[in-house]
Amino acid sequence: WTAAPPTLRDVFLAGRAHGDRTFLVYEDDRATFEGFARAVLALAADLIRDGLKPGDRVAIAMRNLPEWPVAFFATILAGGIATPLNAWWTGPELDHGLTDSGAGVAIVDGERWERIAGRRHLYPELRRVLVARAAPDGVEALEGVIGPVAAWGDLPEGGVPEIALDPDGPATLFYTSGTTGRSKGAVGTHRNGACAVLAHPYSLARSLLRRGQALPAPDPAAPQKVSLVSVPFFHVTGCFATLVTGLYRGSRLVLMRRWDLATALGLIERERCTSAGGVPTIAWQLLDGREAGTHDLSSLESISYGGAPAPAELVRRLRAAFPHAVPATGWGMTETSGTFTHHQAEDYVHHPDSCGPPLPVCEARITDPLGAPLAPGEVGDLWVKGPNVVAGYWRRPEDTAATFRDGWLLTGDLARMDREGFVTIVDRAKDMLIRGGENIYCGEVENALHEHPSVVDAAVVAIPHPTLGEEPGAIVALGRGQTASEAELRAFVAERLAAFKVPVRILLHDEILPRNANGKILKSELRKLF
Ligand code: ATP
Ligand code: MG
Repeated sequence: WTAAPPTLRDVFLAGRAHGDRTFLVYEDDRATFEGFARAVLALAADLIRDGLKPGDRVAIAMRNLPEWPVAFFATILAGGIATPLNAWWTGPELDHGLTDSGAGVAIVDGERWERIAGRRHLYPELRRVLVARAAPDGVEALEGVIGPVAAWGDLPEGGVPEIALDPDGPATLFYTSGTTGRSKGAVGTHRNGACAVLAHPYSLARSLLRRGQALPAPDPAAPQKVSLVSVPFFHVTGCFATLVTGLYRGSRLVLMRRWDLATALGLIERERCTSAGGVPTIAWQLLDGREAGTHDLSSLESISYGGAPAPAELVRRLRAAFPHAVPATGWGMTETSGTFTHHQAEDYVHHPDSCGPPLPVCEARITDPLGAPLAPGEVGDLWVKGPNVVAGYWRRPEDTAATFRDGWLLTGDLARMDREGFVTIVDRAKDMLIRGGENIYCGEVENALHEHPSVVDAAVVAIPHPTLGEEPGAIVALGRGQTASEAELRAFVAERLAAFKVPVRILLHDEILPRNANGKILKSELRKLF
């Protein structure tokens, strides 16, 4: 793809060729690939007519409605920069996204509209708001509404101007989760996004070849894949690994406005979903669903997740509970346009604490704090490089200079890599704690806690200590009806890890630990408990 790099329009056109197959399912709405493509073209024509200029940001702030992908591709075809904002954000957080990006147009759902309606004076650059479906009171004040899915199909009169797109020009502006500070905008190019669709077939091919198996020939008559989409589109994984890849491959996407286990189980059964997953917490919940035995989940062929630490215990339990579903996992960042390392099936089962090797077109290296390479197995800073890695942050030259160096991205994660290239994330550099000079990786202690049969969720954080600097503390949630005392849990960890790593205090939490939209535990909140 160096000679003729694709743009996201090429990916869109390839997806359109799936024609009359069903692409999007949302409640009682169904849209075909062609109907979807026509809605995209109609909105793109509208945006161009309205004066969108190349490089203008279009904010997209809504839940996973079918209009989300329409807004995304329409912006891109119109030459704009698609700027997804987190649908969980409150008014002031949305202020940050809208002002930081300087979006001229926002495409929102009713809920987001209510959050920003009274604050328009805070966004001087925002000149137009479009609202998708469920119009709240006062919608007359809005400039437009995207029609319902049922009306998709009318092509715009006069056609759609074909805007010149540069494969290395900006196409997307995704915001990081803001786990370690203020959320930053990562500027992705067409090439970055288009490369993300290679991730899955490459990873699959690699794992077959590693086991000496032949690559299957493409089979046009193969039944359509059906994905239950539980990750938000506003995050890179939901967008690139699920939406863009699904469009390209002709998969059917079953959307959920918000995650909820009972609804998910019902949809897997009704739509005969072949894949589900998202973040590790969702995989844990699918295990609960399986145990409850209320639904037929036999259509599942794969369960994949990433984006947050997954204890080795998870894949073992999935293997036992879903013997016919291939488990898969990966690691990635907003800055890597989603999946960067990935593996599945036997590779994963044999390396249950790893998130896989880098994708074949990507490179990773592990260094000491001064940047000197470390030997296989040693823990250090993880650096990555590849065609899916963005060039920098939006309007943040200092953060860009600190993170992007000599063509490599300093991830902020601590990891080790074995001789075969399998990467294991041990902690975020900012989460690792040092107790009297000894490094403690939270992930390692969390994994040990997860091995306890009563534990369903665990987080380890630093407790300040006057002489040792920091000590490990843990917050643990137990399964329904399970009991375990603090002393018992500490003894359990002490059997597995060196004494200095055993949490000095363990707080029991009544429910699953608080997480953000991308499945990451809110450690900054939990530290306050100590
Ligand atoms: P911010 O950069 O704003 O602090 P963030 O890093 O959480 O937020 P994202 O880009 O959504 O924002 O997340 C990337 C991070 O998620 C990685 O750097 C890593 O810490 C974590 N992560 C992703 N996948 C995995 C995984 N499989 N195992 C462990 N951690 C993971
Ligand atoms: Mg980050």
